Amino acid sequence: MGIQPLRSRVTIKQIWEGIKAGGDAEKLQSAILQSSKSLRRFSSTWRYLNPDGRIVYHEGFGNPSKKHDGSVVWDSLIVDVTERFELAEMAQNIAKIARIGSWEAILKDGVIADYRFSKNLIEILQADNQSPIDFFNLFQFTDHKVKRHFSRFIKKALLKSGSFEEDFSVFVGEKELKWIHFVVKSECHHSQLIRFYGYVQDVTAKKLSELQIQNALSEKNKILESIGDGFFAVNWIGQVTYWNKSAEELIQIPREDCLGKSIWPLFPVDTRKKFTRFLRQIQEKKSSHIHKQDFFQDFDKWFEVNIYISEVGFSVFFTDITKRKLAEEEIKQSNERFVKISNATNDIIWDYDLENDRFFIGEGFQRLTGYKIGNKITSLEEVRKFIFEEDVDKIFDGLCQAFQSPNESNFQQEFRIKIKNDEYAYVINRGTIIRNRSGVVIRALGSMTDITYQKNYEKSLQTLNENLKKKAFELEKSNKELEQFAYVASHDLQEPLRMVNSFMGLLKKRYKDSLDERALTYIDFAVQGSEQMKAIIFNLLEFSKVQQEDVTLSLFDFQEILEPLKINLNKEIKLKGATISLSNSTVLFSNKSMLFQVFQNLISNALKYSDSEREPQIDISVKDEGEHYLFQVKDNGLGIREEYLDKIFALFSRLHTRDKIPGTGLGLAIVKKIVEKLGGEIWVNSTVGVGSIFSFKIPKNDYENHIG
Ligand code: ADP
Repeated sequence: MGIQPLRSRVTIKQIWEGIKAGGDAEKLQSAILQSSKSLRRFSSTWRYLNPDGRIVYHEGFGNPSKKHDGSVVWDSLIVDVTERFELAEMAQNIAKIARIGSWEAILKDGVIADYRFSKNLIEILQADNQSPIDFFNLFQFTDHKVKRHFSRFIKKALLKSGSFEEDFSVFVGEKELKWIHFVVKSECHHSQLIRFYGYVQDVTAKKLSELQIQNALSEKNKILESIGDGFFAVNWIGQVTYWNKSAEELIQIPREDCLGKSIWPLFPVDTRKKFTRFLRQIQEKKSSHIHKQDFFQDFDKWFEVNIYISEVGFSVFFTDITKRKLAEEEIKQSNERFVKISNATNDIIWDYDLENDRFFIGEGFQRLTGYKIGNKITSLEEVRKFIFEEDVDKIFDGLCQAFQSPNESNFQQEFRIKIKNDEYAYVINRGTIIRNRSGVVIRALGSMTDITYQKNYEKSLQTLNENLKKKAFELEKSNKELEQFAYVASHDLQEPLRMVNSFMGLLKKRYKDSLDERALTYIDFAVQGSEQMKAIIFNLLEFSKVQQEDVTLSLFDFQEILEPLKINLNKEIKLKGATISLSNSTVLFSNKSMLFQVFQNLISNALKYSDSEREPQIDISVKDEGEHYLFQVKDNGLGIREEYLDKIFALFSRLHTRDKIPGTGLGLAIVKKIVEKLGGEIWVNSTVGVGSIFSFKIPKNDYENHIG
């Protein structure tokens, strides 16, 4: 094939020129020379420059024969082998490009005597051209394990007929790592090796990229296993090709039960329907991805699902978002509640997100101010516009202070906000501060309550108080003046009264016989009148003295008051057949003479206003009640009608006419004044026809402190 004898009419000279130009003349000459000497057949191949300028390859053979004259002639044939050469060159080039080198064992009697390694192989392994005698000094194995493995491989190939191949790692040149694909073909006949040959291909680049892919794959698998998301992949015929650990946990199906199985029977009906719907939606959208959040009834869980379509099938990432969903729902509900509450209350509910300057303000704002920003998100600047100008600095200074004090979690402020018709309302703003972990305020929320009414009420109360204070001061002044007057008057009146009295006595005594009955009665009236006046003046004096008297304290037993009193009132007690009992008594630390006067008045009233139908029973009780003493005088007298209970303590107030029961109407007024002077209060309970209980209490004085 490709060999054609040359048919031409060129001269020998022309031929040699063509051979010279081809560059192989010397080689041919030496072959011919050799043949002429040895008289053996010569054969050579050479390049030849054709007269048309093409380089071709010629192969020549010649059988020499010596003539009688000693010259040698050749019976020769020259053929054009250009095509064969070109094919061989091409094969050589292809082997070079494919980085393939061949080898062959040279056998002698069925035993390997030597090896022949191709140039390419030597080049690939960067081995010394001369030295290799077998694979073990041709290859530099990367370690012993590889070398051992290779020996086993060769042994196996030598024992059986067939083709064997495997990849090995070797070093070339200066320890450069190479991967070689080693192919062996062995042919045996009757257990005798008849051919042993093969080739080696440098597959380093392929192997490295394979390893890279393998690494990437195992890296991908590692990632898929470590992610918290569930992941599974399905090929186009519906078989599961990947099922990660999280998928096992979330769907509760072990990997062994799904790998290679059809996906659909693995899922309960509802889930299957959902997935087929999602896949349909992807198709309809003509997209390669879909993202869904859905409740999966079969698992009683919310899942976030991402489905990706690829050329080989589809893959699904899914995360359990039940907790998040429930929390979201809770937040939604609590937000709704918050808005509802803010709408339901008259207070202005507000919530300020400082990080984003988002200010929520409830509907109460519109209700109070008449301006519409209620139930909207706005900025602090917008809200600030509604604050009464004079109060702005005060509020913001206060807020800054609260925000900058790390322990402050609440604040309260009062200020005015503008409302329609150029008016303003007073509000009290109560807030709570929320800080992040570094203590920086990120949110504040609270409510403003309209306190305009209270403010106005406070103001009017303040004015009222001031007026009252003024009045009280005036009253005190006039009281003092009155007391002064009463004292002076009663004091000064005593003398002229005594004169009237004594002169009346004298008049009656001296002119008793010359005056008629009527005149004498008139004198008696006048004397009675002046006696009454004397009593009034005496009582008035007593009354006005109370105020001026110093409250001196002493320790005494109540008996020390009661016993002398009984002696004082002995005549009256006897007359009325009265009984005076003491149901409770105690030692007192108080003003003895003042209490004496109080009990004198109360007991003499109990005797005076007794019921003629029964003998007076007067019971006295004195109790130490811790903070104060409680005194009570209980009688079984006439009693007092309810409407008069308050009035009887006033000056000159009397419920009985003087002709029936004498009196000045000052006794209880004096009692009240003394009780009040001692810091206490007095009251009466009474039932007409049953009797009365006069009660008063006075605070206790600290004896220990007093003497200390
Ligand atoms: P006087 O006894 O001089 O009238 P008081 O100030 O002591 O004045 O009493 C005022 C009035 O209270 C009496 O006029 C009497 O009507 C009524 N009163 C006082 N004590 C009693 C009592 N124990 N029982 C019923 N009425 C009493």
